[in-house]
Amino acid sequence: MAFKQVLPKVYQNFLDRKILNLEISETKATCDNCLRARDKRFPYTYKANLKCCTFVPFLPNFAVGGILKEKLEGHKVIEKIIDENRFALPLGIFPDFDYQYRFTHKKQKDFGNREDLLCHYYDKEKNRCGIWEFRGVVCTTFFCRSDYGKSGQNLWTEMNNYLSYVEMALAEDCLVMKDFSPRDISDQLVFLNKKDFTKSEKTQTTIAPKELKSYWNGYADPKEFYLSCYALVQKQTRASFKEILSEQGLNLEKRVLQGYACLSK
Ligand code: SF4
Ligand code: SF4
Repeated sequence: MAFKQVLPKVYQNFLDRKILNLEISETKATCDNCLRARDKRFPYTYKANLKCCTFVPFLPNFAVGGILKEKLEGHKVIEKIIDENRFALPLGIFPDFDYQYRFTHKKQKDFGNREDLLCHYYDKEKNRCGIWEFRGVVCTTFFCRSDYGKSGQNLWTEMNNYLSYVEMALAEDCLVMKDFSPRDISDQLVFLNKKDFTKSEKTQTTIAPKELKSYWNGYADPKEFYLSCYALVQKQTRASFKEILSEQGLNLEKRVLQGYACLSK
């Protein structure tokens, strides 16, 4: 299967063709019938109704817009997050501090087993992701077992590094196009992968309206904002994308291709 088939379509306008056309076949990580919920060779198993979705990804603004535009099952969750003044910021939607605290303080075996860690985008009725076409980078590149063994896991690590960079570069570029300053952007990055929590942050699930408004730079309707970010990313071409990718991104791109060249079964 070509890699482009597992990526959101929006990436196909501008990612390197060599990456989009990589032929990668992962048959062991059978997510619809979760391998990790039944294969006792793993150090411990996951619950079949939780799988590896005991994790909430950061969703960049344009992906949020894509989910709203395409009305994926998870769009209702996103609307609720926005309406409840949770962690919906111009850069994207972050896991609540309360969640980040519980996630970073979990025990190893809690992953895959603790129901309170289940991703809020998970569709419990269908037992699968409710935003699959726009799921975050960590979700796109996670395979509990690779057909290619260690070389496959190395490739997915390189792919994760590259796509994380791409995801953030695109989200930040949307903000630049909308007149946010570098300071406005860096103020939001502190919401990502938080390590230190005050007593009140450990249970914080919302942001006070006044504080939240201060991040939005005068934009009054987050849904419209996210939709317009999606429209901006849809217009990216390979040439405009290379400009925002910079040398660091192009090096990460090369590392993916090197990782692919080392694949062995
Ligand atoms: S990648 Fe996740 S959902 Fe897929 S088989 Fe592995 S643990 Fe299960
Ligand atoms: S976004 Fe989807 S794939 Fe990722 S953790 Fe949530 S439900 Fe699972």
